[in-house]
Amino acid sequence: MAVSEIPLTRAAALARLDAFLPVAGTDYARLRNKDKGQGRHVHVSQLSAALRRRLVSEAEVVDAVIKRHGLSAAEKFVSEVFWRTYWKGWLEQRASLWDDYCHLLPSLQDRLHASSGMRSRYEAAIDARTGIDCFDAWVVELEETGYIHNWSRMQFASIWIFSLGLPWELGAAFMFDRLIDADPASNTLSWRWVAGLHTAGKSYLADPERIKAMTDGRYAPVGLSRTARIPADSLEVPQPSPPRGMREPDRSRATLLLLTAEDLSVEQVEEMKVLPVKAIAVLEPRNAWDRTALADGLQRASEVWPEAAPCGELQPWDVVTTARSADCTQIATAFLPVGPIADDMAPVRADAVREGILFAEHLRDWDLRSWPHCRKGFFGLKEKIPSLIQSRRA
Ligand SMILES: Cc1cc2nc3c(=O)[nH]c(=O)nc-3n(C[C@H](O)[C@H](O)[C@H](O)COP(=O)(O)OP(=O)(O)OC[C@H]3O[C@@H](n4cnc5c(N)ncnc54)[C@H](O)[C@@H]3O)c2cc1C
Repeated sequence: MAVSEIPLTRAAALARLDAFLPVAGTDYARLRNKDKGQGRHVHVSQLSAALRRRLVSEAEVVDAVIKRHGLSAAEKFVSEVFWRTYWKGWLEQRASLWDDYCHLLPSLQDRLHASSGMRSRYEAAIDARTGIDCFDAWVVELEETGYIHNWSRMQFASIWIFSLGLPWELGAAFMFDRLIDADPASNTLSWRWVAGLHTAGKSYLADPERIKAMTDGRYAPVGLSRTARIPADSLEVPQPSPPRGMREPDRSRATLLLLTAEDLSVEQVEEMKVLPVKAIAVLEPRNAWDRTALADGLQRASEVWPEAAPCGELQPWDVVTTARSADCTQIATAFLPVGPIADDMAPVRADAVREGILFAEHLRDWDLRSWPHCRKGFFGLKEKIPSLIQSRRA
């Protein structure tokens, strides 16, 4: 699949899901870790950019795969989708970790400037000049396509941390800025997992022979570290606390529907469909990929609420005044999980309260039911997967 084919509209994502369904069962379980190379990632779905923006929901994807293969044969694929849920739920209950990570980044950049050794290793890494063949190729693929295969992301992060001796935080930031599916929870926490900071003492060490095997011999990396020295944890991991409280939308209030890249199929959600939407706006996109996805989400929402006034792209600080001028007493949006969009919108919530406008967020049933099981390790959620799926169908 070429980069331009990574789905960024709902129709394209549903078509991709449909095309991937035949191999989402035991074939996926067997072959998913094979990296066939740029433009040839045939063993994985490449749905992450769509799932991250909820152009299609986790529930839709999981339901389709189970319907085709049954839960037993689809177990591997389903549990991979639940990894997304797990990271999101885990971070939601430790929101200060994200804040601390964001605050730490500038000081790491300063450290980089102060240390010529670290700086030259960093520059070689981001310029694809390390001499480690697979790593340099993945940097190029990331720059050109915004995508790297999951297994290769693990090798990439491991090489960055243990072979190049660079801080995991800088690697996470480098990837986040370039990924088409950039997700604060999946990205930041996967980097911590590889570094050995998520499961105490358990890190992931890249192995040259495995890399050769998983890439069909395309790479034979030299110079990889044979030991994983787990970095001192730069961030204090807080105890889990309940996810941020929010108000659910009030179906009696004239509503400005705000679409963000966090969820672009709200028009499919029963609790949202019933809202008296008078105006629709999209939050200003952070990149061209988001712009494509937001335009698609806006078009679908406009079809569901044809009478709603189009308000275009808004900066966060324009949202409340726009709602007021459209005579709306409520701004309704999908729940804004921990990350840059929630950070940008935090002051807007306070503005809305001051203006007497309800800022309401809808938390999807999928998250509501899963997140209580995301407080510790993945196993706690994994063992609940059958009952979570069963209860959705009941
Ligand atoms: C260091 C590192 C950084 C990562 N950063 C991101 C990120 O910023 N955004 C992001 O969406 N994913 C991230 N992942 C997870 C994973 O690599 C991607 O979701 C996956 O590569 C997407 O490709 P796919 O859709 O073809 O996956 P498939 O193999 O087809 O999997 C199906 C779906 O399951 C979910 N999934 C699969 N593997 C994982 C995983 N390990 N963690 C979480 N969800 C998963 C994704 O939603 C994916 O679309 C990261 C993983 C690592 C190791």
